[in-house]
Amino acid sequence: MDLQNWDAIWKQISTSSNIKEEYQKAFLLNMFQKICAKMQIDASYKDSILDWFLQSDDSVSTACSIIQRTYNYEMSQSEAELMNSWFTAYRRKSNVRKAIPLRVKQDLYKKQAGKCAVCGEPLGQNWGVIHVDHIIPWVLVGDELDNNYQVLCHTCNQCKSSKTDFVFKSLMKLV
Ligand SMILES: [Zn+2]
Repeated sequence: MDLQNWDAIWKQISTSSNIKEEYQKAFLLNMFQKICAKMQIDASYKDSILDWFLQSDDSVSTACSIIQRTYNYEMSQSEAELMNSWFTAYRRKSNVRKAIPLRVKQDLYKKQAGKCAVCGEPLGQNWGVIHVDHIIPWVLVGDELDNNYQVLCHTCNQCKSSKTDFVFKSLMKLV
């Protein structure tokens, strides 16, 4: 990437609140994903995180403390609430993948005006190659979050898999 390009991208970031929001979310999600990855491989770490929530009567401030202790980053109230909703979903999620009804796919299709949420290409009418994607990956939050679905074309779905930064990077045209 040359500097001139970066300059244009930066201008876009600093003037678009949508991209800023997306960037902030990707930043938070990256921290959450790393903590989940550590819980996956380290059972005693996982127990300590789960215990922390279990013994707390304010899960938002617990989420805040975990991020503070792990990353030395002080979250705002709204960031802490978002982080807490992910941790809550993580604790509640089932390990069994739920089939998503065709009706949900059709509603998303309508909401997105028949276009892929990532590349914006028309999705066509073949329901078999239109994919319902978990915006925050299923492995992290299961089906516990509201409004966590989007429809993608086959190509974008294959590229995304469970990457959390795919949408952000594609906004930046880095993937
Ligand atoms: Zn696409």
